[in-house]
Amino acid sequence: MFMHNKRLQYTVRVGETNPRLATMMLEQFGGADGELAAAMRYFTQGLGEDDAGRKDLLLDIATEELSHLEVIGSIIAMLNKGVKAQLAEGQMEEVELYRTIGGTGVSAKESLLFGGGPALIDSAGVPWTAAYVDSRSEPTADLRSNIAAESRAKIVYERLINITDDPGIKEALGFLMTREIAHQKSFEKALYAIEDNFPPGKLPAVERFANMYVNASQGEGDMTGPWNEGAQWDRIDDLAQVMPVDGGDGTASVKLSVDELKVAKKMAARTRSDPTANPTTGADLGAGPGAGRITDGDQGGAEDIASAPAFAEANAPE
Ligand code: MN
Ligand code: MN
Repeated sequence: MFMHNKRLQYTVRVGETNPRLATMMLEQFGGADGELAAAMRYFTQGLGEDDAGRKDLLLDIATEELSHLEVIGSIIAMLNKGVKAQLAEGQMEEVELYRTIGGTGVSAKESLLFGGGPALIDSAGVPWTAAYVDSRSEPTADLRSNIAAESRAKIVYERLINITDDPGIKEALGFLMTREIAHQKSFEKALYAIEDNFPPGKLPAVERFANMYVNASQGEGDMTGPWNEGAQWDRIDDLAQVMPVDGGDGTASVKLSVDELKVAKKMAARTRSDPTANPTTGADLGAGPGAGRITDGDQGGAEDIASAPAFAEANAPE
């Protein structure tokens, strides 16, 4: 069960209202790497987790992320406090209203639909979506994704810290940013606490493909490093020699039932193309200047529209 403590996890002291900054803070409220996404990611993973240690960790962090959501949402509410009241009371002059809505990066949606309250949208007004959560119920895959999610959240906080000189906001964001660093460390420990955490899942790699590095983009700019060279790698530069890598003929095939084969043949016959046809098409009939080469109906060849009689006539000197 959840209980709510009326005090925030970190005290929010906002120096002055600033709706434009509030808009940017929305990125960590209802955005892809924001606190709601983090809370929902770990909460749902925690519910499905069978390992007692990971379940505890995930639910601890999920609950803390909700506390972060409360902190960032409170910063947004404070930054918007002035504009929210002005909107509600109709206190803003028309010119001021237009300057605030749209003119300063504050979306009309934020002002008109949400009235300046913290909304589950990102800094561009896009609604929060569960698609931000990419859990797959395989701890070695999900923990890696969680590590990446924490590092992304850290970076977004860093950018937000850089765009404000309000010391109270900087301090609170610095706390939130630091907690993402701590979470990343916990998730890394949890990942490596699983012995044999690579490759993810149960099935092993196919040995002869596991050490292959395919130099598939060749030319100037080809580079070598530990990621593609050395004892760990069999580097393949001559692609023609190894494609298809399985030694087969590289085609796609399937066994069809008698009925499937019959109908497939029927469809192939109906949609067969005739490479000897050179039909006149709508593009030919309507062709004007700039149409490129068109079909010459008499000879079945192509002619250039610039030399066509209609074009010559239309463009003849007066
Ligand atoms: Mn957080
Ligand atoms: Mn976190």
